[in-house]
Amino acid sequence: MSMYAAMGLTQFLSNYPGMDVYPVRGSDLRLEGVFTFSAEWKDYGLLTDAFTLRINIPELFPKALPTVHELDGRIPRTQEYHINQDDYSLCLGSPLRLLKAISVEPTLSGFSKRCLTPYLYAVSRKLLQGGELLFGELAHGQPGALADYLNMFGLGTNIQAMRAIRYLGMKKRLANKLSCPCDCGRRLGVCTFNRRLRSFRLLAQRNWYRKAFSNFLESNLDKGCTRSFSYVEQMVREGRLNLDERE
Ligand SMILES: [Zn+2]
Repeated sequence: MSMYAAMGLTQFLSNYPGMDVYPVRGSDLRLEGVFTFSAEWKDYGLLTDAFTLRINIPELFPKALPTVHELDGRIPRTQEYHINQDDYSLCLGSPLRLLKAISVEPTLSGFSKRCLTPYLYAVSRKLLQGGELLFGELAHGQPGALADYLNMFGLGTNIQAMRAIRYLGMKKRLANKLSCPCDCGRRLGVCTFNRRLRSFRLLAQRNWYRKAFSNFLESNLDKGCTRSFSYVEQMVREGRLNLDERE
């Protein structure tokens, strides 16, 4: 139980008494039940609501993200409500943005407060009053995620962001020898961008970034992005980016 203790399971269950723990195969954790929250945001005021949710917590949490499903069908399963169309899980934001938010308070309650509640607040407001989804400008889907990463990295182009993600999937020592994603023309190891990239290594494991990278490669993005990706794929083919790096 020490893993669950580190996640703050007891605190979570006392903060959200409608939620219960269900056994699952492996080391993942499943939380299910009525998730009641109160939140207040700017001019939109205080709001209290409850949704029936199933939250799957991966073993690697807080360095991997929970997936959340709403079980009562109150939230329409559409893009407009930021529902992922592949598995109808809630799209709470770009994955890296969420990992960063969780890293500030790496517990189940931290995730609930910083990632889940803001989304549910926005959805609840929209269900009550219509209009646009608050925080709706938040990245949605793969194209949104890449745009958001570009922003988080402080880079200028999709190709640069893709390279940064690829480098995060490699050992530091190897990535440092490659040309810097910021296009300064130097090796990553001698550019100040190295320091910025290093902070992202704390958020997730190399494996996570490798998966994110291949998800981008496989996803159906707009033309500009697809072009960027074939560029990256070409780099992979030419051995300038090695996807089969050994651990
Ligand atoms: Zn650089």
